[in-house]
Amino acid sequence: MDGPSGSGKSSVSRGVARALGLRYLDTGAMYRAMTWWMLEQGVDVADHDAVATRAAEPEIVSGTDPDGPTIHIDGVDVAGPIREAAVTGAVSHVAAVPEVRSRLVALQRRIIGEGDIVVEGRDIGTVVAPDAAVKLYLTASAEARALRRTAELNGTTVAAQQADMARRDTLDSTRKTDPLSMAAGAVELDTTPLTLQEVIDTVLSVVKERT
Ligand code: C5P
Repeated sequence: MDGPSGSGKSSVSRGVARALGLRYLDTGAMYRAMTWWMLEQGVDVADHDAVATRAAEPEIVSGTDPDGPTIHIDGVDVAGPIREAAVTGAVSHVAAVPEVRSRLVALQRRIIGEGDIVVEGRDIGTVVAPDAAVKLYLTASAEARALRRTAELNGTTVAAQQADMARRDTLDSTRKTDPLSMAAGAVELDTTPLTLQEVIDTVLSVVKERT
């Protein structure tokens, strides 16, 4: 399941995994963990070469229970810190570095293994798992996405969220390596007018139809 930030990927993929008894992987959390670690290490995240040089170092472990996904880097639980503004502001720069992507894509493929998993990100249908049985691409209007994110976070405004998402979407869609784009054969779903349960139900019917 791919799509821009705030399109509903996390809630939908967790709900679908739960309904089908599948595992769940949040690949965005892995890019965020790598970014948190770079910042902790004092690496200049705007310097691609500096990020590339350190990309092989940290050990990242993702727990795949949809009821309680976890993320550890070098043994530290970073589920909270990776959602902070400093990480959100830097993650698209770190995620644009090819050495970071090749390392995390390999790790993601290892976790996916034989399948039975719902994976969310930006390049899952195009790069990580192009042979996936079902590919989805979630979208929503810029206003709806910003409203959802604002409701999830404290101390932010819809306008600030909309500006931040537009900035990240531009970086994620225009980078040279594995940019955000809809995979061939993906089902596109505009979630703007739908409730979470309606989106989950729609995805479940697509899964039933295709598998
Ligand atoms: O999904 P989330 O918003 O947490 O992702 C954070 C960032 O990680 C994205 O803005 C993007 O830069 C990067 N990302 C990526 N490829 C993925 C998942 C996330 O480049 N598969």
